[in-house]
Amino acid sequence: MRVAVVGAGVAGLTAAWELARRGHEVVVLDGADRIGGKLLTGDVGDVQLDLGAESVLARRPEAVGLIEAVGLTDRVQNPVTTSAGVWTRGEVRPLPPTVLGVPADLDALAASGIVEDVLPQAVPVPSHDVSVGEFVTARAGREVLQRLVEPLLGGVYAGHADAISLRAAAPQVLALGDDPVGAAVAARSAASGTPVAPVFAGIVGGVGTLPQVLAERSGAEVRTGTTVRLVERSGEGWRLMAGPVGAVEEVLADAVVVATPAPATSRLLAEVAPDAAFALAGIDYASVALVTLVLQEQVELPGSGFLVPPVDGRFVKAATFSSNKWAWVADSGRTVLRASVGRAGESVALQTGDVDMVERVLADLTQALGPLPAPADTHVQRWGGALPQYEVGHLDRVATVRASVSGVRGLEVCGAAYDGVGIAAVVAGAQAAVSRLLDELGD
Ligand SMILES: Cc1cc2nc3c(=O)[nH]c(=O)nc-3n(C[C@H](O)[C@H](O)[C@H](O)COP(=O)(O)OP(=O)(O)OC[C@H]3O[C@@H](n4cnc5c(N)ncnc54)[C@H](O)[C@@H]3O)c2cc1C
Repeated sequence: MRVAVVGAGVAGLTAAWELARRGHEVVVLDGADRIGGKLLTGDVGDVQLDLGAESVLARRPEAVGLIEAVGLTDRVQNPVTTSAGVWTRGEVRPLPPTVLGVPADLDALAASGIVEDVLPQAVPVPSHDVSVGEFVTARAGREVLQRLVEPLLGGVYAGHADAISLRAAAPQVLALGDDPVGAAVAARSAASGTPVAPVFAGIVGGVGTLPQVLAERSGAEVRTGTTVRLVERSGEGWRLMAGPVGAVEEVLADAVVVATPAPATSRLLAEVAPDAAFALAGIDYASVALVTLVLQEQVELPGSGFLVPPVDGRFVKAATFSSNKWAWVADSGRTVLRASVGRAGESVALQTGDVDMVERVLADLTQALGPLPAPADTHVQRWGGALPQYEVGHLDRVATVRASVSGVRGLEVCGAAYDGVGIAAVVAGAQAAVSRLLDELGD
């Protein structure tokens, strides 16, 4: 069978890998001039670094399993440190143990000085979806929401807790039940003494090196600069129109996997799966920028980085001390930091020019950490339409998309818009999409 995969981000490339290893002929079409989507490496100050995603969740098997399957086992590294801080109330304070911001150790929380008032309360879990903000405020107080949950959630979704769906984006908080603080504290004491497996993993040379390896070792044909403009039925199979303006070509296939962000998928499915297209059009995206700084001299920094509660009104949203976090970055002999800027619905920060953005980031970092050596090199990577916002009702939207797509033979969708934005979830989603497709076509 010949399958066309639209989009060469980690979702499309995983789908291509899974199809090709089962013997199918695969053509992957991407509109950009490179593959990888949100995975990208680049040189800053002569050090090759991740300029997009930098780690994968190791607590679930799919991403690490894929990295191993493509032959990169010996390049997998766990972070050297994951002890993060929260920059709030005038200093960088140690982040106490939490479940996505819900305190799990009240003594450590009190010692950190991040939150003055925790108001644990048991309130029945509603049967319908609510926002993370509504759920946490009622059961732990607004301060916990603003100074712990909001920055942790923002680190993943770049979104706002009052809009983000509890069921879709914070199932681990939902699972804590009526009294989430009580349950988080109890779970932590019950687990004390149990060895903790690493939560995250990276790849020496950058997670952004994975797409090229996946593409090459899959054996799929991968075309860049090939925007797909139309997906339609053609007899028993499919016809795609793809390519740059003025050089659009027909691509024929027996099946199609659309692995693009929601706005593009919505346009491409408008004719063949209108209900899915309509539901996808309702998914908003946050844009962010990552500012990487390679310093002229080495300097000691505390832990893996810090998060910033939006309520504090800072320019930076979070900072990662890459040379503390990753041994392979430390091996460069350079001190490397990266700061993220921008949240859903806040385009103003991202309208700042590159030079000003670096200056404002440096000003924040200096205020948080004290004087820093001057940068030897800096890089600003802008990610427009970076992260889908799983707003309240997201699971219903996804169910509508799935129902609509499953009614169209030989069509599947996957990517960060559906079942999780992290790489591990995206890989799992692509694998599931391929299984559904092959089941449907009896292959
Ligand atoms: C700055 C940043 C940091 C992140 N950090 C992490 C992290 O550390 N760990 C983690 O697990 N996750 C992280 N994420 C999330 C994760 O990287 C993404 O959710 C994931 O990579 C998305 O993969 P995807 O394949 O669904 O989409 P994308 O990567 O967006 O790929 C979609 C592809 O489709 C192509 N495309 C779009 N329209 C068309 C069209 N019409 N025709 C052809 N091609 C088209 C695009 O060019 C793109 O290549 C981060 C995200 C960002 C933005």
